[in-house]
Amino acid sequence: MYDGLPSPSIAPIPTGWKPIVQLVPMNDSVPLQPPRLAIVGGGLAGMAAAVAALRRGLRVEMFESRRRLGGRAGSFIDPATGTTVDHCQHVAMGCCTNWADFCRRTGVEDCFSRHRRLHFISPVGQQTDFAASRWLPAPLHLAPGLLRLRYLSLAERLGIARSLWRLARTPAQALQGTVGDWLRQQRQSPRAIERFWSVVLVSALGETVDRASLGAARKVFVDGFLAARRAYEVLIPRVPLGEIYDRRLRQWLVDHGVQVHTGTRIRRIRGDGNRVTGIELPDGTHRPFDFVIAAVPWRRVGRLFDPSIRAALPTLDAVEQIESSAITAAHLWFDRPITGLPHAALIGRLSQWLFAHGQPPIEDSPSGHYYQVVISASGGLAGRDRDEVAAEVCDDLKAVFPAAADARLLHRRVVTHGEAVFSVRPGIERLRPPQQTPLANLALAGDWTATGWPATMEGAVRSGYLGV
Ligand SMILES: Cc1cc2nc3c(=O)[nH]c(=O)nc-3n(C[C@H](O)[C@H](O)[C@H](O)COP(=O)(O)OP(=O)(O)OC[C@H]3O[C@@H](n4cnc5c(N)ncnc54)[C@H](O)[C@@H]3O)c2cc1C
Repeated sequence: MYDGLPSPSIAPIPTGWKPIVQLVPMNDSVPLQPPRLAIVGGGLAGMAAAVAALRRGLRVEMFESRRRLGGRAGSFIDPATGTTVDHCQHVAMGCCTNWADFCRRTGVEDCFSRHRRLHFISPVGQQTDFAASRWLPAPLHLAPGLLRLRYLSLAERLGIARSLWRLARTPAQALQGTVGDWLRQQRQSPRAIERFWSVVLVSALGETVDRASLGAARKVFVDGFLAARRAYEVLIPRVPLGEIYDRRLRQWLVDHGVQVHTGTRIRRIRGDGNRVTGIELPDGTHRPFDFVIAAVPWRRVGRLFDPSIRAALPTLDAVEQIESSAITAAHLWFDRPITGLPHAALIGRLSQWLFAHGQPPIEDSPSGHYYQVVISASGGLAGRDRDEVAAEVCDDLKAVFPAAADARLLHRRVVTHGEAVFSVRPGIERLRPPQQTPLANLALAGDWTATGWPATMEGAVRSGYLGV
């Protein structure tokens, strides 16, 4: 977006990269000021854009409507326990290279623990640990782990390996339709779909196999499991997301000269039809800027522009067709530990992933032992009573963790985020606009822009890097 700069690269900004803005004062008495950039939206996309813009020597101001930075990757204080809990557990994978670069640059990488061993719990409570072979190179490094999944028959395991191979070898552009239809064509059994394909894809894509595109599924398996030895590893925050993205990242941004305005909902991005001229603050005042990045969710972006600017952005018409998918988080406080595992995928149950907060063994706390259960693609829970959902989740835990049978639930909070992520339906890539716009001084950022990734922290960071 900034003329004269190298075209944005999706790879991490190389170490030692120097801002290349060459500012030559007109004369000794009038030093030229660096251009000013307004970033509207303080989620991961906006923050990544700020990091990239700083490296290009821009003066950055960030405007976020909420009081906290982090957007969907944020926390709140649970009034009953007084503890800071995340809106929903956020997990990254080893393949999230731009997100890792962003965390390293901003000094928050120590906030995450890396898990090389993933724990799967069969419907009858049998635990299988899944890890890369020490000896086999990618893409074969996970084959022994797959063959150990004893809650699938040997024929199912071999059939899965065959289909994975076929999927990886088919060029992405040749893949059409939903992954569910393709799996049935591949003669995958309903049990293999439920116990393997859905377990991986529903949590990675936030969508069911009957709705998710085959292309998105291929990306998960190729990038996340086959392409590199450590791509499948899981990174889990050690502290609440608010501590990472609101407190520490905000401090980093401020220390590096970014003016951060939280609690400031931008009414409009204004322009004259050819260029953006600035932004309209909540009180109606106009603040001029040289460049603007709109880093708001896809449901908000259309309304953010002056009609003259909106008319110059025809790609936003398609954005309005992007569907959303829900994710439910069940926050549970028990009177005792229910498992020593830090996380677990529960096979064939409503509860998909369990996360234990705090490193095991979990320390006693007055507010109990806190766990979070995540249910992705949870649109089917709409209309169900929260107590009923919590009860079914507790039944799941009791069925597979013996220690949960005697545990008393002290407190629970079930939160469904109806528009958690965009739905990776077939054809979604045609609806996602690039970060660059026809207006030279306006860019878009957000997980929903064209990054090739599903709605993830990695996608959001990529979009922010690409937007500058
Ligand atoms: C329940 C849930 C679970 C998830 N789990 C995972 C996971 O495990 N792993 C993973 O990688 N991803 C996960 N995600 C997805 C991830 O949170 C998002 O992809 C990512 O945070 C999106 O970042 P963003 O900056 O694009 O958008 P957002 O986080 O939505 O940020 C946009 C910001 O713009 C602000 N804004 C909007 N309008 C205005 C305005 N007019 N003026 C100023 N500010 C404005 C909003 O307040 C918001 O802070 C999950 C999401 C949810 C909801």
